[in-house]
Amino acid sequence: MPKSSTSLLDNMIGVGDMVLIEPLSEDTFIENLRKRFEHNEIYTYIGSVVISMNPYKSLPIYTAEKVEEYRNRNFYELSPHIYALADEAYRSLRDQDKDQCILITGESGAGKTEASKFVMSYVAAVCGKGQEVNKVKEQLLQSNPVLEGESSTSSVFGKYMDIEFDFKGDPLGGVISNYLLEKSRVVKQPRGERNFHIFYQLLSGASDDTLKKLKLDRDFSKYNYLSLDSATVNGLDDAACFRTVRNAMQIVGFMEDEVQSVLELVAAVLKLGNLEFKPESRCNGFDESRIKDKNGEYLKEMCELLGIEQSVLERAFSFRTVEAKMEKVSTTLNVAQAYYARDALAKNLYSRLFSWLVNRINESIKAQTKSRKKVMGVLDIYGFEIFEDNSFEQFIINYCNEKLQQIFIELTLREEQEEYIREGIEWTNIEYFNNAIICDLIENNKNGILAMLDEECLRPGTVTDETFLDKLNTVCAEHQHFESRQSKNSKFLTDHSLPHNCFRIQHYAGKVLYRVEGFVDKNNDLLYRDLSQAMYKANHSLIKILFPEGNPAKVNLKRPLTAGFQFRASVGTLMKNLLTKNPNYIRCIKPNDKKAAHIFTDSLVCHQVRYLGLMENVRVRRAGYAFRQAYEPCLERYKMLCKQTWPHWKGPAREGVEVLLKNLQVPAEEFAYGRSKIFIRNPRTLFFLEEKRRQC
Ligand code: ADP
Ligand code: MG
Repeated sequence: MPKSSTSLLDNMIGVGDMVLIEPLSEDTFIENLRKRFEHNEIYTYIGSVVISMNPYKSLPIYTAEKVEEYRNRNFYELSPHIYALADEAYRSLRDQDKDQCILITGESGAGKTEASKFVMSYVAAVCGKGQEVNKVKEQLLQSNPVLEGESSTSSVFGKYMDIEFDFKGDPLGGVISNYLLEKSRVVKQPRGERNFHIFYQLLSGASDDTLKKLKLDRDFSKYNYLSLDSATVNGLDDAACFRTVRNAMQIVGFMEDEVQSVLELVAAVLKLGNLEFKPESRCNGFDESRIKDKNGEYLKEMCELLGIEQSVLERAFSFRTVEAKMEKVSTTLNVAQAYYARDALAKNLYSRLFSWLVNRINESIKAQTKSRKKVMGVLDIYGFEIFEDNSFEQFIINYCNEKLQQIFIELTLREEQEEYIREGIEWTNIEYFNNAIICDLIENNKNGILAMLDEECLRPGTVTDETFLDKLNTVCAEHQHFESRQSKNSKFLTDHSLPHNCFRIQHYAGKVLYRVEGFVDKNNDLLYRDLSQAMYKANHSLIKILFPEGNPAKVNLKRPLTAGFQFRASVGTLMKNLLTKNPNYIRCIKPNDKKAAHIFTDSLVCHQVRYLGLMENVRVRRAGYAFRQAYEPCLERYKMLCKQTWPHWKGPAREGVEVLLKNLQVPAEEFAYGRSKIFIRNPRTLFFLEEKRRQC
């Protein structure tokens, strides 16, 4: 490949656009990433897609000067940067009236949230000025710390924010949606990780006075829900973070009493975790659970904080009401069931508080106008997850990624092909894998895995994870992308090396083995009605609205929607929303597992490159034309490069461009003339034109 002097092609620091790698293989792809990483070039393009490598150190590339450098410049003009993408998206929104979405994916720790902040702060820097506008910007930016404090870098699988602009491109407000808070973390943390940040921040950063009001102890170890081995995170100052969160809440517009209510709930969750139960033998032979006497204090404090009558809660941890044939029957809870009920309540308290916060923030930041808005959506979401042990959460998040891949295929490929047809340009069909069939395996209303799970959860009788797996084995056995040990009637994909309690799905990015344990329970997401009624009775403004189903006047005998059903619905809504917008992709990769600068672990990067489908990405890009532009602006931009077109070309613009390219001796195979646009195969041609222009 000929060398060129532009930074996109500098071989010393690797090529800036993966489309230009020759020969293309996984090895050369990764080698290029490594080379660039070693030179602090953390951004690399695949056409218009930006790959971002987490440097795990701060780089001087996000300054005000950099913003100016990238402002109003063409995408390929400068070396790859997330600002180039942000600029392109913003200008296309403002000048061409095209709604945009920025899709940021990657593993936990790969740099998604940082990337979304860079995009947002870039847009904030280049769009409108003035007092009102600045206030809107500030509120939008400060919504981040509020939600981050309440979650943790790795515990919300997805967040989507629509930023709304007026016709001039000034920001008006925004709307946030969150997807699947990992609420099981409240009661049990993954090994080596801690609970949600806010617990530690509150205990470290609140004033003595606040803690006294909340009846809390500064000592983490006093609380069962706070795992001890990783309570403090290196380099994280919880006390300072608490001040940031408090400050952000104020800027976003929370009232003091609202902040107080939020903190009371956070404190209540900690106390709830300290409740322990003991069996109380009954004459009928059943064990009934009782709160241990030594926990009396926690129960009392919690009830005081939330304005709940102690006896009501005590009862709800010993009995539950079952409704059968319009009759109410009270049955006892044994100790295990009481613990289950306690944890379910803690998870529900926390996740409903989180949803309330999102709504409350939206209330503050929503645009104050009804007129038409231009929208830029920013999606910060987990990429494919594959661990040794994959459960319901991984299943759900991988399903979401499967859908996002569909959008990618739909938008990139189909639009590309349609445009070629529209423009009358020859298209050699490239083979790509359409993953619709896998989405169908998961989401089909009749016999998809989620529907099977719901059906199983609703079925009377004994329902277990094993009966669910049995059902899958019968229903999905014939599906090409489903494998399990005991698929009944399966002609081909029965794999006897699989464990008994697992099934495997062949996702577009690779095979993932799921263990069924916990699927039924997590999908049911059951909270005994006695507990929601106890919460509803609380004399606490916030708690009451978090448990509307506890209102006895509104007893709804229908079951609450399952977690899987809700997620499928919200993914559906998200996809519809994204499909109406022009997509911009940022793919985040982490170079090592140690959060360390300067370490690049090939195998780890390779894994991510596969799961993000990046090789597929390059192939699609290389199969087509990298760049296209309508004849008029193209001629306008380069007309000074040729005597015949400068200063004015009198004929049709298309002919002008033809004369221009012929004159510059660009090889004929490098471009194609469409009906309204010129198509340039290789970005190199573009660099060549830009270089000439600069020399002019
Ligand atoms: P994710 O949201 O994907 O889980 P984050 O965006 O929170 O990951 O990034 C994790 C950490 O990596 C950040 O706290 C920061 O220290 C570091 N990091 C990520 N991106 C960058 C970057 N562009 N420059 C410097 N540090 C970064
Ligand atoms: Mg994040």
